[in-house]
Amino acid sequence: MTGTVDVINPATEEVVRSVPLTSAEETDAAIARAHAALPGWRAVAPGDRARLLRRFADAVDADLENLARLEVTNSGHTIGNARGEAANVRDVLHYYAAAPERLTGKQIPVPGGVNVTFCEPLGVVGIIVPWNFPMPIAAWGFAPALAAGNAVVLKPAELTPLTALRLAELAREAGIPEDVFQVLPGRGSVVGERFVTHELVRKVVFTGSTEVGRRIMAGCAERVKRVTLELGGKNANIVFADADLERAAATAPYGVFDNAGQDCCARSRILVQASVYDRFLALLEPAVRGVVVGDPGTEGTEMGPLISAAHREKVASYVGDGAPVAFRGSAPEGAGFWFPPTVVTPASPDDPLVTEEIFGPVVAVLPFADEAEAVAMANDTEYGLSGSIWTRDVGRAMRVTRGVEAGNLSVNSHSSVRYWTPFGGFKQSGLGRELGPDAAESFTETKNVFIDTTEHPHGEGNQ
Ligand code: NDP
Repeated sequence: MTGTVDVINPATEEVVRSVPLTSAEETDAAIARAHAALPGWRAVAPGDRARLLRRFADAVDADLENLARLEVTNSGHTIGNARGEAANVRDVLHYYAAAPERLTGKQIPVPGGVNVTFCEPLGVVGIIVPWNFPMPIAAWGFAPALAAGNAVVLKPAELTPLTALRLAELAREAGIPEDVFQVLPGRGSVVGERFVTHELVRKVVFTGSTEVGRRIMAGCAERVKRVTLELGGKNANIVFADADLERAAATAPYGVFDNAGQDCCARSRILVQASVYDRFLALLEPAVRGVVVGDPGTEGTEMGPLISAAHREKVASYVGDGAPVAFRGSAPEGAGFWFPPTVVTPASPDDPLVTEEIFGPVVAVLPFADEAEAVAMANDTEYGLSGSIWTRDVGRAMRVTRGVEAGNLSVNSHSSVRYWTPFGGFKQSGLGRELGPDAAESFTETKNVFIDTTEHPHGEGNQ
């Protein structure tokens, strides 16, 4: 171990627990153990692997309230959200429990023989998880990876390791071999880097900042290592004049302030058709002022604190003196990394409030003239993760969704992620897709085998 890190409750600033940090040598040893465990894990019959994943899901279900409370304390998530996140882990495990029996490969007709493809596990998969959604993001990687027969080493964010450590205990209780699923709390620059540089790690799954994602991709490129990246977002919530404005305004706070805006899918730019811009702002104001911000452990709280003092400082730097703040919601005073829901109306589309991922409860509202301008403004960003379109016109909804460069869009809704549909970004929001029916296969190599069935195979061509 290379020391410990104090895990802080962001709602109280109290130390919750001290967690040992994994060293580079210990990371190497864990990767070696994972690699050694592969033949045994691969030999587990598909139906038995499926049963183990279902038992893991059942263990999560039985521990759901404890996991949720742990997340409230460690991450400041509201209890309602934290329960949903633990339930998501359970559901993702159940969903991918079906995969071991369905990774069937193919039989492809060829002359002179039989040709089959196999879905072979990659080997050891390294998963690097950020602090904003510690449970679901971990599960979106480990559930399909384990289902496909891989061994997993997982690094939670230094700030939020507690639920991942508990999930590792539950996996063991469910009968998943200890070396097949290991959680290694530690620093990104130590444990995460080793996932990228260690030759026995065959794929890295990373969620976090675009800056670190680029570095990870470069490191993986040097070793021709597979990589999936889920990075930042500056997502547009486009509201047309013909929309149900009351509903669009009432739900907009959820679209951006859920998880205190610490969400790569947060709709942090609201683009409103100019003819209804003032009316929309007037409807938005009471909705924002009404967001219940406070103790995340209390039922009914809608927004908790930010993750850390440093992160609050970063968020606050965007809305200092002179910032075009239109109105704000409330935030508790005293201990805790609180920040009020904040609505800004920047004059220029080049304002950092419009272009940069703030990752906090700050939303920019801007007017647009027509459909073409709405699409152009939505696409005027290096990111392309998600977004919403509010309109009653089905044709327009389809035109705009096809025009916006983003991986996950919703019409008259702010829903972004369903575990049975693919999730991921365009442009600098990432590479590859997680979740959905194909995720388990993305943790496999395709092996093609030809068997010559002719009576006298020797001496014939081998094309
Ligand atoms: P990072 O990208 O730094 O961290 C994400 C994860 O990567 C953490 O587990 C971190 O470890 C790890 N990591 C950091 N450096 C390396 C490295 N060199 N090699 C391998 N792994 C590494 O995000 P931050 O936490 O610093 O947040 C900064 C900003 O990133 C946020 O303000 C937000 O804009 C964006 N972000 C986006 C997320 C998303 O969901 N797309 C999630 C989180 C952040 P460690 O524990 O040491 O920090």
